[in-house]
Amino acid sequence: MAAELINGKEIAQELRSQLVRDIRYLAEKDIIPGLAVVLVGDDPASRTYVTMKQKACEKLGLYSRLIELEETISEKELLDIVKQLNNDDDIDGILVQLPLPKHIEETTIIEAISPEKDVDGFHPINIGRMMTGQDSFLPCTPYGIIKLIEAINVPLEGKHVVVVGRSNIVGKPMGQLCLNRNATVTYCHSKTSDLQKHTSQADILISAVGVRGLITKDHVKDGAIVIDVAMNRDEENKLCGDVIFEEVKEKASFITPVPGGVGPMTITMLLYNTIKSTKRKL
Ligand code: NAP
Repeated sequence: MAAELINGKEIAQELRSQLVRDIRYLAEKDIIPGLAVVLVGDDPASRTYVTMKQKACEKLGLYSRLIELEETISEKELLDIVKQLNNDDDIDGILVQLPLPKHIEETTIIEAISPEKDVDGFHPINIGRMMTGQDSFLPCTPYGIIKLIEAINVPLEGKHVVVVGRSNIVGKPMGQLCLNRNATVTYCHSKTSDLQKHTSQADILISAVGVRGLITKDHVKDGAIVIDVAMNRDEENKLCGDVIFEEVKEKASFITPVPGGVGPMTITMLLYNTIKSTKRKL
């Protein structure tokens, strides 16, 4: 039987309409949540992501400020800009679009962002808070995936979640958020010796790798929930994930498409975190 589709666009839209209510409430108090997006250089993919984030802000009625900087900017100059934004009362969230040019240390910049405005959830203080189950800004992509799983009414407690990928921004926090909800978590990565042995035991399989066709039907248990985080391009330059959708959908119980699955949730959770930051100030 074919899997049910997890429609990220619809679920994201539903969440955004809840956010509109928060924005209206804040507007009554003359408060507009503000997001600063810092773009260094002119990488086309980064520019596309930044434009999408800005459009989403404007559509919802948030204030968004784009700070475009030359590729050659020094680390010191970028740090000064981050500090200014930390002290800017119109700005509730700061996002520095990654990757940064090689001469700038990303961790130095991330650590310079005030944890109170770190709406990407990448600051070590927010990561530490997440690890210890305290309130914090949660990284947008993994948090969006938690919202997708909640939307299909599947409790994580007791489930075996297998996360493929262990990056600091997707894989690692993804597993941690599932663990915080009492799932049993297995991480796989490029040095995992038998990927299929692990993935085929998953009740919930989350693939965040970036290798097209990595997850075949043989990697998936009958009735598993399959979440495809990746954004790859096929030979026709069309967006696709890690999962061979057509064959895996015949085995899974629920599956996310690419595009239209995880992607819309990531931006929604960025808006969510920005509004959360504004509400915290109150
Ligand atoms: P990343 O930093 O490149 O991490 C990739 C992870 O995959 C690494 O942990 C790597 O293992 C692992 N890996 C590589 N080859 C593997 C293999 N053959 N088998 C098993 N594991 C393997 O990437 P990322 O930033 O986490 O992003 C992952 C994917 O998600 C990308 O396609 C990205 O575009 C997409 N993404 C989508 C969204 C969204 O909103 N939809 C947001 C963020 C990212 P090692 O650690 O051993 O190197």
